[in-house]
Amino acid sequence: MKVLVINSGSSSIKYRLFDMTDKTLMARGIIERIGISGSKLTHYREGGAEYRSGVEYRSEQEISDHGAAIGLIFAALTDAGHGAVKRAGEIDIIGHRVVHGGEIFSQPVLVDNIVKENIRQLAGLAPLHNPANLLGIEACERLIPGIRQVAVFDTAFHHTIPRRAYMYGIPYRYYEKYGIRKYGFHGTSHRYVSRRAAEMLGRPLKELKMISCHLGSGASITAVHGGCSVDTSMGFTPLEGVVMGTRSGDLDPAIVTFLMEKENLSPEEISGILNHRSGVFGLSGISSDFRDLDKAAADGNDMARLAMEVFVYRVRKYIGAYAAQLNGLDGLIFTAGLGENSPGIRSEICHGLDFLGISIDPEKNAIRGRETDISAPDSRVRILVIPTNEELMIADETLRALN
Ligand code: AMP
Repeated sequence: MKVLVINSGSSSIKYRLFDMTDKTLMARGIIERIGISGSKLTHYREGGAEYRSGVEYRSEQEISDHGAAIGLIFAALTDAGHGAVKRAGEIDIIGHRVVHGGEIFSQPVLVDNIVKENIRQLAGLAPLHNPANLLGIEACERLIPGIRQVAVFDTAFHHTIPRRAYMYGIPYRYYEKYGIRKYGFHGTSHRYVSRRAAEMLGRPLKELKMISCHLGSGASITAVHGGCSVDTSMGFTPLEGVVMGTRSGDLDPAIVTFLMEKENLSPEEISGILNHRSGVFGLSGISSDFRDLDKAAADGNDMARLAMEVFVYRVRKYIGAYAAQLNGLDGLIFTAGLGENSPGIRSEICHGLDFLGISIDPEKNAIRGRETDISAPDSRVRILVIPTNEELMIADETLRALN
């Protein structure tokens, strides 16, 4: 069974082709700057049983829209030199990442006209993402008529969050009228790492209490009980929660109206500030990338140090809150760019959490991007670094929708 996973953004499309008989990656790639000058495709065909060595292929050309981009992806996948299949017909099914499934979609679904219409209507909740996801679906449909496609939703994993955790303390009618509630994001990543954690621990997922920290340029923390999300830090939008690369995370809502008044800001302008010019970037004035902050802090820059301290502090607050909600903790998981690659940040987050049974082993922690149990032998909570693999999870979920 060959599954093509497509993650279609507003100006880029990432893809991976898996052979799901043994879950091997056959090819992967990305198209960037769709509809913008300087568009390019970067494609890799993996080595392995069929092809002895991997091949990289790059091409720069104008790519005007998502239809043209999907066309190029299929051309790359079926190319005699760097392709991974002989014809597009060998691909059995396509799984699409769709960011927002609202309250409608708690499971992956086979795409039909009703599903497409629902994704379109949910664009109000995810104006940057859902329309782009839909463009990817429709482009595949045009190119390979009749191909089966599945939509896998980022929000779906969080459908098990109870209403006491997803409701905001504002008039109930806004929930009814606009669907204002916590939805949560990064669901595919939290689902994947919590399953892998159970496998690494050799224990049934059903009996585990875990906190999953997806710490990348976007960051979210999820409390997972028995394999189900019971609370998560992102909310109605991906702006809530911990301080992120450029996003503010939690703040007193009165700050929003205060700033709008004082600085004479429109809704778009304040949204731009909170989404793109805040977080550790806004605090430090240096960068949203922790590698830059690390270096600047080591050179004595106090604003870089402050930004990192605020980030670590907020993550620890969520860990404490979720350990209380779960009434215990078996596993603490670190994933995504920063979680997988920064021993320093992991160590700072875990420092002083020994009362919860969290104790890191400094030597085991000195790894990057590898599945590792980094807990000290006497740590009651197992602390795990697990590289996320959202695409493989989407491929799995795509097959689940078929069954
Ligand atoms: P992601 O969004 O998951 O790709 O994560 C991107 C973020 O991970 C970057 O902005 C960095 O802050 C962080 N990151 C990636 N690699 C490293 C590293 N080696 N050390 C520290 N931070 C890293």
